[in-house]
Amino acid sequence: MKFCFATNNLHKLREVRLLLPQELAILSLQDIGCEVALPEEQNTLEGNARQKASYVKVHFGVDCFADDTGLEVDVLNGAPGVHSARYAGIECDDVANYVKLLNELKGKDNRAARFRTVVCLIREQAVHFFEGVVNGQIIEEPRGTQGFGYDPVFVPDGFDKTFAEMSEGQKNRISHRGLAIGKLVDFLVNAS
Ligand code: IMP
Repeated sequence: MKFCFATNNLHKLREVRLLLPQELAILSLQDIGCEVALPEEQNTLEGNARQKASYVKVHFGVDCFADDTGLEVDVLNGAPGVHSARYAGIECDDVANYVKLLNELKGKDNRAARFRTVVCLIREQAVHFFEGVVNGQIIEEPRGTQGFGYDPVFVPDGFDKTFAEMSEGQKNRISHRGLAIGKLVDFLVNAS
């Protein structure tokens, strides 16, 4: 089975390749000759994941899946959520994003948050969704150099390390994307 993972994010591509069994080799956007930034103009994670996957299916004719992830912070009423990538501006700067978040949370006791990933699979003409959620806390100062995005400020519940202090394998086993991709894999393996 061959699917394209419709993402412009090379970190995600690496993470997801590590999660998939050998029989599910995935193609990158580069492999199928797609060199544009995929559109993500919807106001939900489900809408964006579907828009990215549909773009690839329509323009390149390959079965594919795409994900969209948001960091939802309780005391900010779920923000930055679907706007996580551009929280501090259109440059999508990871450090600027988490610095803005730390400033918003300065002096706040409730630091509960969750990463939520929605994966949209388009296989033949059918559309399927898979969700993964990991709960945790936003710490006060960034720690760690692995990963990307908000990883240095997020400590998942039950751990004392941030995602950026974990190895890729450790993060993958418990992460939002790991859980959503696990459901995708179960579906594909059972459907084959
Ligand atoms: P998207 O799914 O690529 O649209 O991601 C939206 C935003 O969430 C981006 O700013 C990413 O950096 C951030 N993000 C997505 N996945 C992760 C993750 O696993 N860890 C930390 N930040 C993430």
